[in-house]
Amino acid sequence: MTYIHNTIVKLQKTSPAQAEFYQAVEEILDSLQPILETNDKYKQHAIIERIVEPERQIMFRVPWVDDQGQVQVNKGYRVEFNSALGPYKGGLRFHPSVNASIIKFLGFEQIFKNALTGLPIGGGKGGANFDPKGKSDGEIMRFCQSFINELYRHIGPTCDVPAGDIGVGAREIGYMFGQYKRLTGRYDGVFTGKSLLWGGSLVRKEATGYGCVYFAQNMLEDNGLSLSGKTCLVSGAGNVAIYTIEKLYELGAKPITCSDSNGTIYHETGIDLATLKTLKEVRKVRLEEYLTEHPDACYIPASDYPQDGHAVWRFPAQLAFPCATQNELTEQDAQALVANGIIGISEGANMPSTQDAVEAFLAAKIYYGPGKAANAGGVATSQLEMAQNASMQTWSFDEVDEKLKVIMKNIYRNARDTAAEFGEPHNLVLGANIAGFRKVADAMIEQGVV
Ligand code: GLU
Repeated sequence: MTYIHNTIVKLQKTSPAQAEFYQAVEEILDSLQPILETNDKYKQHAIIERIVEPERQIMFRVPWVDDQGQVQVNKGYRVEFNSALGPYKGGLRFHPSVNASIIKFLGFEQIFKNALTGLPIGGGKGGANFDPKGKSDGEIMRFCQSFINELYRHIGPTCDVPAGDIGVGAREIGYMFGQYKRLTGRYDGVFTGKSLLWGGSLVRKEATGYGCVYFAQNMLEDNGLSLSGKTCLVSGAGNVAIYTIEKLYELGAKPITCSDSNGTIYHETGIDLATLKTLKEVRKVRLEEYLTEHPDACYIPASDYPQDGHAVWRFPAQLAFPCATQNELTEQDAQALVANGIIGISEGANMPSTQDAVEAFLAAKIYYGPGKAANAGGVATSQLEMAQNASMQTWSFDEVDEKLKVIMKNIYRNARDTAAEFGEPHNLVLGANIAGFRKVADAMIEQGVV
């Protein structure tokens, strides 16, 4: 335990005020105890000291001009965390909450997530504290172009391949790729999550949500249960939540909630997917408008949430899919879910449960799929997009979906088997963290002190 304490104390000194990053590091280190105790090599090669330090961090000014002619300035980031297994790979997040801590926690998680996919991709993450909400298309384009005016020199199909995350979808990737192409004169697979018109992969848009449900399916079926007929709580209303809901319906489950930053929809008869898609993918409006078409649904504004958590987790259900953002599920939320008889959790978002919430799930012996395993389908399909681009091929929807299913099954089995190997068969947090870590750490040792 002292090495965890020492590592966090050192990070607090060398990288001050990065609470989310310390949280992600602590969670991983906590799981690694059994493997570090039995393997001297990780200590000999100073793997922990090296793995918590990004290989490179880029921070830059992003100036742009708004529709009123005013100059605006945002902070841009790209953290190239670890390239032991392949080019840095991970999304870009545009959200006002973005800072160095958020990008570092996401980049750190991405290293192990990407390792778990079994594909040759390293870990990175980036973004900006830019709020796309309420911005015109022209403002979004000018922001993306300015962001790339700096970032273009750091990225490329064999060194660092960004994609989307919160606030970054195919439209933003399009504007960023256009500027990259103009500056470099290269048409290559530097981004994933591209439009299907010019190099994107089928299933990439759906992959994180679908993968999160496939993970739940594997976890349940392995324990003699099934998704069919299960009532499900889903948080979020973005890409991950929408395609989680779509796949849940396909597999016979009933999602009854979704949420955005303003409030939560509870619809007892099941969320209307078509309405949700129209609101969020086409009209890009607040979720509250769901009530116009469905007055029988219930809307809880964020101002009415319980003080110690989120309204979405207080409804009785059998399964939960946190698909919004980090730390959206508190210890009290976890206790409410357990008290209401929850069977399983599969995390579509990155680190959505606080550390105390995770401990509550593990103590209650809930089937719990941590984000870095359960939401790895998105980045895995990004790698399938890279493979198609590099070989100048395009695969069919079913071909990519089949590969995604196999990848999610393998991730589940790898986490399960590793958990069993270390004597905690129920603990997929331990299994996923050790399985991901072992692969990256062994590759780092083989590549020497770099
Ligand atoms: N942002 C996604 C994640 O958190 C996807 C990253 C990617 O496709 O590179 O894994």
